[in-house]
Amino acid sequence: MSERIIYADRINQLPPYLFARIDEMKEEAKKSGIDLIDLSIGDPDIPTPQTIIEELYDAVKDPKTHRYPTYDGMLSFREAVAGWYKRIKDVKLDPVNEVVALIGSKEGIAHIPFGFVNPGDYVLVPDPAYPVYLNSTILAGGKPHVMPLLRENDFLPDLSRIETEILKKTKLLFLNYPNNPTSAVAKREFFEEVVDFAKEHDIIVCHDNPYSEIVFDDTRAPSFLEIDGAREVGIEFNSLSKTCNMTGWRIGYAVGSSKVLEGLLKVKTNIDSGAFEAIQRAGIKALEIADKVASENSRIYSKRRDVLCRGLEIDPPSATFYLWAPVPDGYDSFSFTEALLSKCGILVTPGIGFGKYGEGFVRFALTESVQRIEEAVERVKKEFIFKQ
Ligand SMILES: *Cc1c(COP(=O)(O)O)cnc(C)c1O
Repeated sequence: MSERIIYADRINQLPPYLFARIDEMKEEAKKSGIDLIDLSIGDPDIPTPQTIIEELYDAVKDPKTHRYPTYDGMLSFREAVAGWYKRIKDVKLDPVNEVVALIGSKEGIAHIPFGFVNPGDYVLVPDPAYPVYLNSTILAGGKPHVMPLLRENDFLPDLSRIETEILKKTKLLFLNYPNNPTSAVAKREFFEEVVDFAKEHDIIVCHDNPYSEIVFDDTRAPSFLEIDGAREVGIEFNSLSKTCNMTGWRIGYAVGSSKVLEGLLKVKTNIDSGAFEAIQRAGIKALEIADKVASENSRIYSKRRDVLCRGLEIDPPSATFYLWAPVPDGYDSFSFTEALLSKCGILVTPGIGFGKYGEGFVRFALTESVQRIEEAVERVKKEFIFKQ
């Protein structure tokens, strides 16, 4: 690259992208001709349901969908989101002021710090975590303050440990349950504690909930907004990506505090021009059938989970399509990932890729068929023993 082309400081402040090395390893493995079983991908392998696709065909043929959408989303889409929240979570939302359409929830997560964080302000981010919370904080000029998610604390942050000096300058708190990568689920009591904490310290809560419907056995993952007082202190991000296998479609939503959503919209109106209306119309259809689709998905993932967990003798998670497994003795997360690839032809994600508190773990994604997962178990069992 030319020496005159220099990135902005904020780009240099982003942590190194560890997955680039994993991508390289994957390419090398593929070239060598091995039969690679890729359990590193956090993206459903199950296709989008046909009814949703047909709705898109119809919608895209209607010229009314071809023009600029409204910034906050079609009213009919926002009503469908509110309807889903009422039906599934018993949360009553005003579709006009308490729902905003997003171009995937990642878009909203990435933009929210720009609406609320001044240079030097802190944002509380979990670790290990989806990297966007930390990176969007940095891009917006804020300071991430890491909250370790430890196994002995059921992968919940210990809010009482955050210093008062930090809290005085904290604007936002990111949370995500059911959690990627640990698959932990938070109970209502935890969210109640979060609401009190947010009120006491004037912090805006951003709860990221894309796995709310990928739950097993009798698990129920609450919405943050089910808690009394939650909508005064924060918002929830959700999306059709994982619920209805629509990651490529880029449609999500933020719900909750109208004041916070207004701040998000002030940013968005200057950056994007909303989600394609044909996709929003398909999204309305998806929300109508989302409970059926999600329970079918959960049935599929739970079978895969059972095969992998029984085979490797790992405790089964009760939500998400991930398995967060401590690495066998003698390895760290990266060296174990390399060993699994070279000895077994299996690719997983090293925990360190989700932050320093992810060290000592790897993430298996249940995004391959039962047959492939059975094959993976056979290969791994011959080489490694997992500790509990
Ligand atoms: C997949 C995922 C998202 C992104 O969802 P989109 O709606 O597709 O942008 C957000 N948060 C977490 C934790 C995820 O795993």
